[in-house]
Amino acid sequence: MSLQPEPGFPIPDETARVAKASFPKGSIYIRMRDELGVFYCDYAFAPLFPRRGQPAIAPARLALVTVMQYAEGLTDRQAADAVRSRIDWKYALGLELTDPGFDFSVLSEFRSRLIDGSHERQLLDLMLTCFVEKGLLKSPKQQRTDSSHVLAAIRVLSRLENIGETLRYALNTLAVVAPNWLQTIVPKPEWYERYGRKFEDSRLPSNREERTSEAVRIGTDGVYLLDAIWSDLAPSWLCKVEAVEILRLVWIQQFSVENDVVKLRSADDIPPPSIIINSPYDPDARRGNKRTTTWTGYKVHLSETCDEDAPHLITYVETTPTSDRDHEIIDELHENLTEREILPTEHLVDTGYIDAQLLVDSKQKYNVDLVGPAPGDSQWQSRAGNGFGLADFEIDWSQQVVRCPLGKLSSSWTNRLNLYSQPVVVARFKKSDCQNCPSRLDCTKDKTGVRTLTLRPKELHEALFNARVRQQTPEFKEQYAKRSGVEGTIAVLG
Ligand code: SF4
Repeated sequence: MSLQPEPGFPIPDETARVAKASFPKGSIYIRMRDELGVFYCDYAFAPLFPRRGQPAIAPARLALVTVMQYAEGLTDRQAADAVRSRIDWKYALGLELTDPGFDFSVLSEFRSRLIDGSHERQLLDLMLTCFVEKGLLKSPKQQRTDSSHVLAAIRVLSRLENIGETLRYALNTLAVVAPNWLQTIVPKPEWYERYGRKFEDSRLPSNREERTSEAVRIGTDGVYLLDAIWSDLAPSWLCKVEAVEILRLVWIQQFSVENDVVKLRSADDIPPPSIIINSPYDPDARRGNKRTTTWTGYKVHLSETCDEDAPHLITYVETTPTSDRDHEIIDELHENLTEREILPTEHLVDTGYIDAQLLVDSKQKYNVDLVGPAPGDSQWQSRAGNGFGLADFEIDWSQQVVRCPLGKLSSSWTNRLNLYSQPVVVARFKKSDCQNCPSRLDCTKDKTGVRTLTLRPKELHEALFNARVRQQTPEFKEQYAKRSGVEGTIAVLG
């Protein structure tokens, strides 16, 4: 029997009567239903409906259960119990008092369907649409954004455990999808013993040389398996099995093969943390660090309104790999808020979200003032404190000349591309000026003794310069003080 989408779910009379009598002062869910109505409808989740199968609770209800479950930090089993037993939940969900609810496993299936169909964002989008319609969310003046770490749902593995588990995972998967083929190629009975149980439960050698030998032994077994999979005798689809692809990638990262001898790569020969796979059970999880926190998983970015005269509402959530720089989400975030007509005029962010190009683009494309501490001048002269940094030079863009702190003028001005193919200007001073300069040691360490400045194009240079000047003012400090509130929101949600 298939379930047809319902346009909404009215509250049965008996449920309403009992709920109002049981909660004379209301409850958060009774109030939510009374004030916001039904903000999820089955039409929005129509692609998630099973075409065949057992009758199921409507996706709109499951979506609401997912939100209420998160609000109370309930497990799937506890949430399913709440649907079955709590009157305020039945009121919010528009269920009869006699409704038996559903098996708790339905919730994880629903989440999987949401993610597989890329519908997870709808949970927030539909709620925001409702808030806009109810007048709770108007075009905000200010929003604030920050990121936090998200731990992957995996055990953190040592290098040896990761290697062993990757091969074990591939073997277990092949035992399911190609059992007969696997039996024909397993070379020794010891493999069943060696890869039969989790490596984290095995007694692994503590001695460094023995650990390396063990890794090489596993590496050799893995190379044997990969060779067998890529041989003409194996079914061609085997190399497309996800666990096999993970094995192949991990082996490239961890081993080299020279003259048919497998070697464990040295620490300086393995890829950086932004690339290396840490567990076969979540190959996208990467090591990350922010200030003093190090973790394996992802980053979540969260944006919320922060006007004083309106509720503070989360408007944007994005999960990214730990290796992505924070500022990479800003353009998409502004685009998303523009589409929903909730773009702020001021966006409060920390240094990680500020970049000269973004300062300019945010203003020009979206009319948004990106407010936050701009990255400092990273050249040694500025970091040293008493050297001549970029801010100590006067730039005349129209005459294409730079005046140094000692009043000398640059002798050349060249437009070129830097290593990242970005346009830059290179201004160079005269050798005769710099070599005879009494302040030369505060200005340049160049072997030629000549100071050279590399400048971004005028509007980017000035955007960054102005941001650095602004952040010294009391007005900025007052304006920016609001940004830290988003850290409290993240802490509550975490
Ligand atoms: S080293 Fe050259 S650029 Fe630097 S202050 Fe002296 S004269 Fe000016």
